[in-house]
Amino acid sequence: MHKCKYIFITGGVLSSLGKGVAAAAIGNILEAYGFNITILKLDPYLNVDPGTMSPFQHGEVFVTDDGAETDLDLGHYERFTRTLTAQKNNWTAGRIYNSIIQKERRGDYLGKTVQVIPHVTDEIKSAIFGMDAGVDLVLVEIGGTVGDIESLPFLEAIRQVGLELEENRVLFIHLTLVPFIKTAGELKTKPTQHSVKALQEIGIQPDILLCRAEIPLNLEIRKKIALFTNLKVEAIFSAIDAESIYEIPLLFKRQGLGEVVLQKLKLKKRCDDSSEWSKWVKKIKNLSQLVTISIVGKYVRHADSYKSLFEALFHAGVCNHVRVKLHMVEADTLLSENPAEIFQHTQGILIPGGFGIRGIEGMIKAVEYARSEHIPFFGICLGMQVATVEFVRNVIGLKNAHSTEFEPKTNQRIFLKLKELSNIEEMGHNMRLGNYSCVIKKDSLAFLIYKKLKIQERHRHRYEFNPIYEGQLESHGMMISGKNLERNLVEMVEIPGHPWYIGCQFHPEFKSRPLQPHPLFVAFIKAAKSHPTAKRA
Ligand code: GLN
Repeated sequence: MHKCKYIFITGGVLSSLGKGVAAAAIGNILEAYGFNITILKLDPYLNVDPGTMSPFQHGEVFVTDDGAETDLDLGHYERFTRTLTAQKNNWTAGRIYNSIIQKERRGDYLGKTVQVIPHVTDEIKSAIFGMDAGVDLVLVEIGGTVGDIESLPFLEAIRQVGLELEENRVLFIHLTLVPFIKTAGELKTKPTQHSVKALQEIGIQPDILLCRAEIPLNLEIRKKIALFTNLKVEAIFSAIDAESIYEIPLLFKRQGLGEVVLQKLKLKKRCDDSSEWSKWVKKIKNLSQLVTISIVGKYVRHADSYKSLFEALFHAGVCNHVRVKLHMVEADTLLSENPAEIFQHTQGILIPGGFGIRGIEGMIKAVEYARSEHIPFFGICLGMQVATVEFVRNVIGLKNAHSTEFEPKTNQRIFLKLKELSNIEEMGHNMRLGNYSCVIKKDSLAFLIYKKLKIQERHRHRYEFNPIYEGQLESHGMMISGKNLERNLVEMVEIPGHPWYIGCQFHPEFKSRPLQPHPLFVAFIKAAKSHPTAKRA
């Protein structure tokens, strides 16, 4: 039975302290010590999955290989560690309850009263224990803040795990805030004391505290926190604001966090190799050139909505030794303002994924500008769809061209739902989600970039290119450079002769890692870097 060890990460005082990054950073340290790990996120909200939640409220929906629509923290897990997450790495209270209610309806509980304890807690525990296959350590991040009503069943479940397993198999790490109060000129420990007290009241004594603070905690403060939280001073760590999140594993490791985790779990490190990671972090600090990329979208004021995209651009920048400056453009502004002015300092235009009609005509204007002014252009999912529509309207001359998502009655349906395409069966789910293969044309820019004929990329969309327009597209100069052959679906388009123009129906940003930046992003930034307006930082 469950022979691996478990690390539970909870958060206190307030949300947005960076629990996901902290969990991912601990995973990174443990991998550097030679352990196989996996990370799981338990979210206390009642939505069954984050797929239907607004990106304005919840940030990006991260998509896994197996097509799960998950919390954006899973993106951090994949970027900081070798873990490939899947549906089983993200549970919400909604999914837990959904599964219990289905069992109850089926009669699985044989008429017993179905209760939070033990039924909900058992379901949570089986989600946790379901992760143990083939790994040494399972890290479990509990969403929300200690003290929330919603998180109680989750905390109760992990308390029980602590009780059921041997002491050296379970570790509780609590992330809290130690605010600096300007008027008093000092760091205040009271919120941390209260947060730990709230945990202790439900029977969890944390083993390690990670204290978010603007400045490192001195020994005196750490001693004070230790005294009030029933811990040794060695177990109190500073989690200061870092210049880049990718520095965090190194900052933690330098304070000895990895060693304390191993000590408490009675583990010995198998190796100690963070050299590649630290070399990469050093590179971040020496980026000599600046490249400005304009992102034209509709969630531009909500940085979290495009989390993986921003990270992918950053990774590609580091690979090219450039700092990527993001210029966020609200798509609608292109309808009233001059694109030449909007894009005057831009070396590349990117249109990311999105849903809904707002901003579409503005995005089409941005594509037209990038195409006709020879500015490197990258269209991702919705970005590829608007790029193709722009080409059909302005190059082929079919002025009513549209996607049926935005103009259901158009007589020139360039993108439509899978079920509207003849001879393709509708899939169980109404979105194409997760990994699908794409076969690349040999004489294309896509092939030069991937250096492969067959790739797998993650999807999250409902509409597909209408194959009856394929011939016209190609005869007017837009190449279909990638296709999914199983379903005969267009995956990639490009314009030979343009300095760099690629549209892809998938989301390459989900697969970019610091040490393995995604080739499409690397090539896009490389093209932007050699654009005539690129200048020294
Ligand atoms: N709204 C488009 C579709 O559903 C694009 C989705 C996306 O960009 N992720 O097909």
